[in-house]
Amino acid sequence: METLLIACDFDGTITERDTLHVIVEEFGTRGLWGAIEPRLRAGEVTLEQAMQEEFASVRATPEQVREVVLAGAGLRPGFTRLVEWAEGAGHRLIIFSSGFRSVIRDVLATMGHDDIEVVSHDARFSPEGAQILWSDRGETCVECGRRCKRHDLRGRHRGEGVVYIGDGLSDLCVAHTADLVFARAHLARDLRAAGVPFVPFEDFDEVRERLEAIRTLAA
Ligand SMILES: [Mg+2]
Ligand SMILES: [Zn+2]
Repeated sequence: METLLIACDFDGTITERDTLHVIVEEFGTRGLWGAIEPRLRAGEVTLEQAMQEEFASVRATPEQVREVVLAGAGLRPGFTRLVEWAEGAGHRLIIFSSGFRSVIRDVLATMGHDDIEVVSHDARFSPEGAQILWSDRGETCVECGRRCKRHDLRGRHRGEGVVYIGDGLSDLCVAHTADLVFARAHLARDLRAAGVPFVPFEDFDEVRERLEAIRTLAA
């Protein structure tokens, strides 16, 4: 089989719940995301503006954030088995997230995955309010008009077959560039609406078994 770049979203994909929502629900203004998300989906605010608005209200120490995320995010089954299979088969697995590196690292550490490459934004948490540290995503994407994950993926791609695994709005544009997409939740609905083929999944054992069975991604 050809070598793969397995590009995996974090929030709502590796975790059961979006860690950003877990953090905001605990330390920020409860229900705020529910008010922001329709404006985001309608294109009235950018994802960056929505996140900035959401996190302005979050007041907590890094330790408090870590504790709440580890207790509340939940892990989708099978991720470690996918990572081990990918390593053994010589595929690269990289996490592409629109969330925060410090939070992602905390969760990965509990699974013993300190060495997985993570491409994401970051945040500095403090009792005075959280500050988002935006990663450089280059110019606005010509396809979606956002600073999107296409830029990040392009920068890491070394010509392998690309598998994308995700669940949300920030995965939609980049998913169009993958050879094979595993999707759930919002991403699955949006891809279905756009007529883009994908494989639905609920856990990483399904992903791994599907990938194990594939000889080539070429259509
Ligand atoms: Mg997600
Ligand atoms: Zn884009």
